[in-house]
Order: sequence, then structure tokens, then C-alpha cells
Amino acid sequence: MKCDVLVVGCSSAGLMAATSAAKGGAATVLLDRDLQGLSHTANTLFEGMAAPSGVKIESSYLIKELQGMRILSPSGHSVTIPAKGYFIDREKFDEHLLRQAESCGVELMQGNARMSELDSSRRTVSLEKDGIRLDDIEARVVVDASGIKAALARQAGLEPMRHPEDIAWALEAEIEHPGIGEETHFQYWIGSMAPGWKATFSPAAGDCATLGVFVRGHGQNVQPYFRQFLKMFKSCKSREYSGIEGLKILSVKRGGDPICVLPGAMAADSLLVTGGSAGQSGLAYSMRAGTICGMVAAEAVAAGDVAHGFLSRYEKLWKGEFYWKYRMGRASLQTLISMSDEEIDRLICGLSGKTLLACGSTLRKSVYAGAKVSLIRPGTMPDLLMNLARG
Ligand SMILES: Cc1cc2nc3c(=O)[nH]c(=O)nc-3n(C[C@H](O)[C@H](O)[C@H](O)COP(=O)(O)OP(=O)(O)OC[C@H]3O[C@@H](n4cnc5c(N)ncnc54)[C@H](O)[C@@H]3O)c2cc1C
Repeated sequence: MKCDVLVVGCSSAGLMAATSAAKGGAATVLLDRDLQGLSHTANTLFEGMAAPSGVKIESSYLIKELQGMRILSPSGHSVTIPAKGYFIDREKFDEHLLRQAESCGVELMQGNARMSELDSSRRTVSLEKDGIRLDDIEARVVVDASGIKAALARQAGLEPMRHPEDIAWALEAEIEHPGIGEETHFQYWIGSMAPGWKATFSPAAGDCATLGVFVRGHGQNVQPYFRQFLKMFKSCKSREYSGIEGLKILSVKRGGDPICVLPGAMAADSLLVTGGSAGQSGLAYSMRAGTICGMVAAEAVAAGDVAHGFLSRYEKLWKGEFYWKYRMGRASLQTLISMSDEEIDRLICGLSGKTLLACGSTLRKSVYAGAKVSLIRPGTMPDLLMNLARG
């Protein structure tokens, strides 16, 4: 089988890359190992990341609007940041993007992809099912949008992340308890309240919410960290919710989040890497990266030049929009990981009780500067704190 652009990975980055390549006139195939049961992590995003990425939230998949986020310190102080956010039905969201891709002419295929051959003008990917080689697909440009393992890029000898050791391995549980989803703010724990690194709570309306732990430097088995956090979470919420001990866990998702990983090599001859595979963390930002990637892939096909030189335009465009944001995000998160509970408490305590955007002008400036850098996604809120602390 032959096509112009083959995108591997049918999630946020891959869906946008395929749609964008097809819109650019390329014959595009989008492949995933499991198209039937698409079930991805990431359900919360904020306007501060969605709007600049061109992501418009539609009512067909919106579950709840959030009023902002609250950052909680180990001794229970908190700082509240007003920011419009969204809890989305991720399956419906993906379905919506998938229909959009199909309407642009993207062809869908199912199977496990493996990079098999390379020359400077095309690549061949073999399609496997249950370890059996089914087919070969020859593409002018292959886009690796396969997520955190970046398998195809690595099979082609590329290292698309600059600090792969800093991937945060995560577990996110969907929880149920009367009224817990009615809370209005995303919540974010740091310090020893969040064993392993950071922990999050996102209210999903009614009785449902999600609870996540993100662990760095302790391997991929994060279950023990989740158990510890759950215990602390229940104790923390016991004054607000009676019977919280009986909170139900409905489902669990696991994965790796490249939030502290800077992108490395994103292009080679006939190959582009986008989204989590390239360390481009965050739902909306990975969608924007996918859009740029698909656009450049289509341009390369149209120009008849799919060599690294042409495709590196994607790296250039991406860096122009995002590089400094990711750099600042990493710097702030690295600062956070080295802070003691006392330091975090002092910082949050100093800001506690303030509605930040209504504060004096220096603080407001800091908020805007910080927000520019770090309102990328809930996961980078500590950046904002650091900027506030400086302000
Ligand atoms: C637990 C958790 C919670 C998160 N929550 C949020 C959040 O609330 N908000 C936010 O902005 N970000 C969040 N993130 C980060 C976010 O999920 C990612 O940064 C981003 O969504 C990654 O999307 P992606 O399209 O690159 O890849 P993924 O979503 O990882 O999808 C990769 C796809 O590729 C397919 N695939 C992989 N290998 C192959 C292969 N060899 N052949 C065929 N198909 C293959 C997979 O089946 C999958 O469908 C979270 C991350 C984690 C781990």
C-alpha cells in the first residue's frame, strides 16, 4: 500500500496531524493499534492553552466548565487562580476529531506499526496484528504520533526527547462520591501531599471526578503512590464530605506524561515526530504541534522534497511558537521538585487567600507574565507560582 503521509497514533497530536496533512492535499492514512476502543488520558484543559492553539471547545463533548485552579500546600494553605477551564468527555472529543479527519479524506487503518525500511525519499512501515506481519505501507512521510514511547522514531534512530529520564509516570482514576464533581476548581497538590511528585483532582460534575498522581524518578509502577495519595485525599476532604472513606474508583488509566521533557530531534528524512512522542506535552499544545507537523508534511510532499532539510521547517515553526514556553515550564518544575515542604508552605502561605488577578499591579503583571509561560495546562501551574513569587 502507498500513501503520501502516514500518521501513526490516533490521539490528539495524530488526529490533528492527519487532518492538517489531508487539508494540505496529501493522501493521508491514520493508523492506530486500537481504533475500536480509543481511550486516552487527558480530560482537562484551560482556555489559556486552548485558545492560542486554535482549539474551540464544543458542547457535544464538554462535561463541565471550571472556574479556575487551586494549588494546595502540604500544610493545607491554598492559592486560587481564576482561569476558565473545561472537563471534557475524552472519548466523545476523540470521536469528534476522528469524524473531522475522515471528512477531510483521511483513511483509517488499524494495526501495530513498526518502522521497517528507510531511504531518503520514502519510508516503509510494517503493519502487525498479534505479532503477525499483515501488510507494508510505503509513505513519503511517516509521522510518529504514537505517544510517550516514541517507538517509530526510536526504531529509526532518532531521540525525540531531551530528558526522557524526566517523564512523569502517572495513574489517573475516575472516582465517584456524592457531590464531589460539583466542586468548581481543578486542584493541584505539591510537596509531600503528593507522594512521588504532584497530584491532581479534576471535578467532572455530579458525583464524578478524576484523581491523578504523577511520579518522577521512581519507575513506572505508581500504584503505591496513588494509594498513599488517596489516603491523604480522603482525610483532607473528610470535613467536606461525609462517608468519603467509601469513595468508589470506577476506572483507572495509566501513562507517561512528558511535561518536564524538552523536545529533541523532531525531523529526519521522510520522518516527523509530534505530540507526546516528541516531548510536546499537553492536550491542546500537542494538537497545535500536530497541526503544524501535518501542514509541513503536506508541503514537503507537494514540493517533492521529503528530505530532512525541508521537513526541519516543522522544527523551526514549532520552536517559534513553543520552545520558550516549554523551557520556562521545565525550569520552573525543576525548581519545584527541589523545594522543601517548608519552602512550598511559605510560598503558598504568602499568596494564600488572595484572588490573584484582583491584586496590585506588580502581582498582576507577574500573573500575566507567568500565565503566558505557564497557563499551558493544569500540570504547569507551579510555573505561575514561581513567577508570582518573583513578582
Ligand atoms: C494520566 C495522565 C493524565 C493527563 N492529563 C492531562 C490533562 O488533563 N490535560 C492535558 O493537557 N494533558 C494531560 N496529560 C498529558 C497528555 O495526555 C499528553 O501530553 C498528550 O495528550 C499526548 O497525546 P498524543 O497524541 O501525543 O499521544 P497519546 O495520547 O499517548 O496517543 C498515542 C496513540 O498512539 C497509538 N500507538 C502507540 N504506538 C503505536 C504503534 N506502534 N502502532 C499503532 N498505534 C500506536 C496508541 O494506541 C495511542 O492511541 C496527561 C497525561 C497522563 C499520562
